[in-house]
Amino acid sequence: MKNEQKEKNKASFIIDGDETLANAIRRSSNEITIAAIDEVEFRKNDSALYDEILSHRLGLIPLKENRKLNEIDKCSCDGKGCNKCQVQVSLKAKGPCTVYSGSLKGDVEVIYGKMPITLLEKDQELEFVAFVRLGKTVKHAKFSPGLVFYRHISEITVKNADQAEKIFEKLKASILNPPKGKIKNGETYQCSEDVDYIETFIESAENKSKLIEVKYGEELVFIIESWGQLEPKEIFTESVKALESNLKEVLKTIKK
Ligand SMILES: [Zn+2]
Repeated sequence: MKNEQKEKNKASFIIDGDETLANAIRRSSNEITIAAIDEVEFRKNDSALYDEILSHRLGLIPLKENRKLNEIDKCSCDGKGCNKCQVQVSLKAKGPCTVYSGSLKGDVEVIYGKMPITLLEKDQELEFVAFVRLGKTVKHAKFSPGLVFYRHISEITVKNADQAEKIFEKLKASILNPPKGKIKNGETYQCSEDVDYIETFIESAENKSKLIEVKYGEELVFIIESWGQLEPKEIFTESVKALESNLKEVLKTIKK
């Protein structure tokens, strides 16, 4: 990993390797275990939303387990559910109010407390208990750790430094080898954005070949946007580990 660029919950970095490897790593991000609400028991629901819709919304709230959990189908309870493989959370609210994700009570960390779940009118009530379990994206999208993708790096060569300054200012967060001071004519910068997107910052067609020259480079840039359960870099390393363990499984079948 080199030329890493980081914002909160987003990272991009160049990797050594070709597209087949990059794609295998990307797909393996679907095999990381992530906690999410997996089962809901409604005691009261006077809101305008059906139980099924509320359950779906609850499942998509990013949260972190505070203690280490087993995957339910690998747990000693044989998939029945016990305190080693699930955490109980609950919520109780009475209107008029907006019910937010932050109102969930239980031994979990809700990453974004201001996600609206539903609206309650005067005297309407919502009450449920729910179980948080580990799962993988291959089973359900609610277990997704984030958005993981890659593309070829874009290379921007400066032709008119004075006028191109504005373009670089707008792309600042995506330049992987930012200049120490001002940009200089003839220098090339690597950018994690797409070539077509970079070109939208060149205001007129006649400037197109005068300010900068943009083309795809050979190297691949990995871009990871986390939903908050894991750091972007952890998503990458966990994906590599998942790929490694799947490959080991394949080897075992051959040895037999
Ligand atoms: Zn269990």
